[in-house]
Order: sequence, then C-alpha cells, then structure tokens
Amino acid sequence: MDPYAFLLDDEPRPLGEAAPPIYQTSLFAFDTVEELEKAMETHAAPYYSRVDNPTVRQFEEKIARLEHAEDALAFASGMGAIAAALLALLRPGDRVVAAGPLYAGAYHLLKRLAAWGIETTFLDARDLEGIQAALPGAKLLYLEAPTSYTFAVPPVLRLAEAARAAGALSLIDATYTAGILANPRAQGVDLVLHSASKFFSGHSDTVAGVVAGDRALLDRIRPYRTLLGAKLGPFEAWLLVRGLRTLPLRLARHGETASQLADYLERHPAVRRVYFPRPGKYLRGPGSLFGVELADEKAARAFANALKHFKKGVSWGGHESLALPLAAQPRVREAYGFPGGLVRLHAGLEDAGALLKDLEHALEILT
Ligand code: PLP
Repeated sequence: MDPYAFLLDDEPRPLGEAAPPIYQTSLFAFDTVEELEKAMETHAAPYYSRVDNPTVRQFEEKIARLEHAEDALAFASGMGAIAAALLALLRPGDRVVAAGPLYAGAYHLLKRLAAWGIETTFLDARDLEGIQAALPGAKLLYLEAPTSYTFAVPPVLRLAEAARAAGALSLIDATYTAGILANPRAQGVDLVLHSASKFFSGHSDTVAGVVAGDRALLDRIRPYRTLLGAKLGPFEAWLLVRGLRTLPLRLARHGETASQLADYLERHPAVRRVYFPRPGKYLRGPGSLFGVELADEKAARAFANALKHFKKGVSWGGHESLALPLAAQPRVREAYGFPGGLVRLHAGLEDAGALLKDLEHALEILT
C-alpha cells in the first residue's frame, strides 16, 4: 500500500474536480447573530480566516498525517511558526537548550528572547553529554536534524528521551526531512516544525510554516498564531496542497542527484570536505542540501560565481539548484565560526548530468 496516497487525495469532490476549490475569503457571514456567536465560541464553523480557513485546514490535516501527529497549525512562514511556538511555550525565567548549529533565524530569535528573560544554552547537536548536562531545569530542547550548515545528524531518539527525563519539552525543526526522510514523532519528539517554503512547496512560489504535535500543545500555540496574525493565507495553503502531491517523487529525485554530486565532490582534490548527511539510523534516504568546503572565502566565491545551473540564492527545497557561499552571510558565519570556504548547495530537479558538468567546470578554475 502506498503510505503517501493521502497526499494525492482531496475528498470530498462534489463535481469530480481534480484540484480542490480555494476558500479565498477573509470572513464567513451568517444569517443570524446567534450563528455567528456560536461559530466564535465553539470554532465549529470558520468565521474569520486569520483564525480558521477550510483550505488551510486541508493543508494542516495532510501535514498532521504525514508527521504522525494529532494535528497541525499552519503559519505565514517557518519563522512565524518558530516565533509563535517559542512565545507560547516559554515565560520569563525559562531556559532553552538549543542543539545546533540552528537555522540563523531561529538562532537570532533565541538570542533576542534574552531581552524577555528567556535564556538559551547553545550547544553542538552531537555533544550528547553536554546537552544531557544542560537539560535539568530547562523548559525546552530545540533541535534540528540534520543541523543547518554542518548537516550533522544528532541522536534524536536519545536527545528526546533526555529532554523528557529532565521534564523539558522537545521541538524539532524537521524541514530537511519533510515527513518523508524521517519521522521525529516516532523518536519521541513533542513538536515537529517545518519551513513549508522548502520541500512542501517545492516550486519556490510560497512562504509558509507549520507545526505538528499533540492537540493539547497546539492549543497553547494557536492563540499566539491568531493574536500575532501569523496564520497562513488560503492561496498559499492551496499551493502547498498542490506541492504535496509530488513530495515523495521530488524528494527521491533530489536525493538521488545530491548523492551523485556529493560522491563526485568527495573525490575532487580542490574540495577539503563534503558535509553530506548519509542515510542511517535516523535518515531513511538522502536529502538535497549539503555543504562543500573549499580552500577559503575567495575560492568559495569564485566557485559559486562560476556555476551556471546553480543560481545564487537563499532558501532551498525548490525545483532549481542553488549555491550559497556562507561568506555571503557574515552574521551566521561569525555566530558559529564556520570556515570561510564553506558553500551550501541544493540539488534541484534538473538533469543530474548537467549539474555534475556544472560542478566540474566550476572546480576547474580552482585547480
Ligand atoms: N528552518 C530552516 C531549516 C530553514 O532553512 C528556514 C529558512 O531558510 C527556516 C526554518 C525559516 O523558514 P521561513 O523562511 O519559511 O520563515
């Protein structure tokens, strides 16, 4: 049986439509005051799209299923989801343990939360002992697997267990695995968060975020989504439901191509190191995103500029291949002390042979 058949299915289809309709409406109007009152009190019917919208709901239900969670909440961006979750779960005096390197936005937000009396202990995700020692007294363990920029795969099961034993909640940014390459919920993680701008969209046309988990936890986050005005719009949700139809296919192709490129780069004399997370205990398959370390910043810039198929851009997870020298993001680089020669590559859906040639050609100029 296809475990992802539900990504293709959009019941009900009263007219036999192949794609679902969009509820592109800001409000839902009622005939009587009492009906409106009931909707606002019970949330049994949608009444305002900043609070609830059927098209957004369709996206949320698919993500909840994909991540083996009771439910999901969709946001206007991955950062919207991260911000609402942190504000909902933390109070002044609380401490977070962050197992990184984390995506720069999450890192900077956690740093800024110090002004609200919320402190973060930043550790390397592979430092299991250090994390275990830091957890007692902490409110939240914030994880990424693989980590951003270094693509290390931490022992998620053991980290989630350690958080639980210390009485802390665990939250993972699982954007990389997209509900296909791993299931953090099965490893005991409480909340699974995604930038849906990446693989869930897959077409580089949507900015969105989502968090999945038990209803009791999501009910604590939901009011922050409403009051911050951070909810996803219906059109973006519709695009995401469209994107999800091809998610398993796209991930297989991204992973196949990225593996070929990483194998090639690992053998090249101009390459110091390749940071490619290989499938293993946690990852069921390869992803699209990895790092390649060249001699220095000058080499990284020259290499990225010589690439033709790999465009230079932030974000990732779309159809187009991308190269991003970390030197172009000095604040991230300095925060984590990354080497100047590090370049992040996203293998897109283009022909793998053409991408390989592009790398060959760009590396020729360095040797
Ligand atoms: N998490 C990861 C791992 C990311 O790479 C990004 C964006 O690049 C985000 C979160 C933030 O998501 P968004 O850009 O949708 O706010």
